[in-house]
Amino acid sequence: MLFLPRFDYEEPRTLPEALDILSDLRSDTKVIAGGTDLIVNMKKGSVDPARIVSLKRLKGIRGITRKKEIVAIGSYTTAADIARSDVIARSFPVLRKAALSLGSPLIRNRATIGGNIATARPAADLPPALIALGARIKLRTKGTNRTVIPDVFFIGPGRSILGKDEIITEISLSTLPPFTGADYIKLGHRAALEIAIVAVASRITLDSPDGVIRDARIVLSAVAPTAVRALSAEGALLGEYPSDELFAKAASLAMNDCSPVSDIRGGADYRRDMVRALTIRTLANAYREACGQGVGL
Ligand SMILES: Cc1cc2nc3c(=O)[nH]c(=O)nc-3n(C[C@H](O)[C@H](O)[C@H](O)COP(=O)(O)OP(=O)(O)OC[C@H]3O[C@@H](n4cnc5c(N)ncnc54)[C@H](O)[C@@H]3O)c2cc1C
Repeated sequence: MLFLPRFDYEEPRTLPEALDILSDLRSDTKVIAGGTDLIVNMKKGSVDPARIVSLKRLKGIRGITRKKEIVAIGSYTTAADIARSDVIARSFPVLRKAALSLGSPLIRNRATIGGNIATARPAADLPPALIALGARIKLRTKGTNRTVIPDVFFIGPGRSILGKDEIITEISLSTLPPFTGADYIKLGHRAALEIAIVAVASRITLDSPDGVIRDARIVLSAVAPTAVRALSAEGALLGEYPSDELFAKAASLAMNDCSPVSDIRGGADYRRDMVRALTIRTLANAYREACGQGVGL
């Protein structure tokens, strides 16, 4: 379809006003943020909301703020905002790298973090880094307020626990312990405007620069109905001294921590092989960063 179907359009100025509109469940209402996903789907005819509520004019949901150990990212913050934030570059370079992997400069200028989470695409770029970093997602309705972790937010492709009357308002991150490093690598056929064939985000925390691994997260993307943690691979790392052999062992375990399908962009066996390769690379880069040598972007 070339043209958008007809719909009512609201531009509330405050969050309570937006939540009030959404609380009327009689009408099929959709929130719009950057519109990079919703408008495409409306043109394709896969969604046809009767009413759209824009978050554009809401105050207080765009931007990155730091209060002591907590960094809060408003849900209307774009991938470009994240990529150029000094706070993110300093404290969570892996999230900056994920934001820079999303789409193209044009898309990044509009695509919001809230929209990237709400679409619940199995290959979305920000959720793997957010899971690896232990992010929390704040959700509001007219009468409720809840905070969830992304690990439980996603249910399946395009499916999440987000209610029809609910708005993602903020994503918060706690600053990382010393000797922590993280990396995100996305494999696609092209360098830009590409949906991941496989992507992996890894984070490790060491006891000391030459100590054992105290904490580890490995998140696999585009190889299961949602981004998933490679729990057996993570378990193999805990309490061990980092080494190439250890990372190779964890990466082999990660191959069985996912359930890839074959499609036009890649076969299931190829995807499992790439899970192994990207897990090794992200762990090695995360380790270098944890030792203080820094990960190149
Ligand atoms: C050419 C192109 C390339 C792309 N490349 C990538 C890519 O490389 N990686 C990637 O991950 N994605 C990619 N996308 C998908 C899309 O750009 C992202 O998912 C983007 O982050 C969506 O954010 P948005 O603000 O545009 O969401 P919108 O389109 O405004 O909304 C998407 C969905 O989320 C809901 N929503 C939005 N914000 C909220 C909120 N705060 N609370 C509740 N619900 C909300 C909407 O109701 C809608 O259902 C691409 C899209 C296009 C068109």
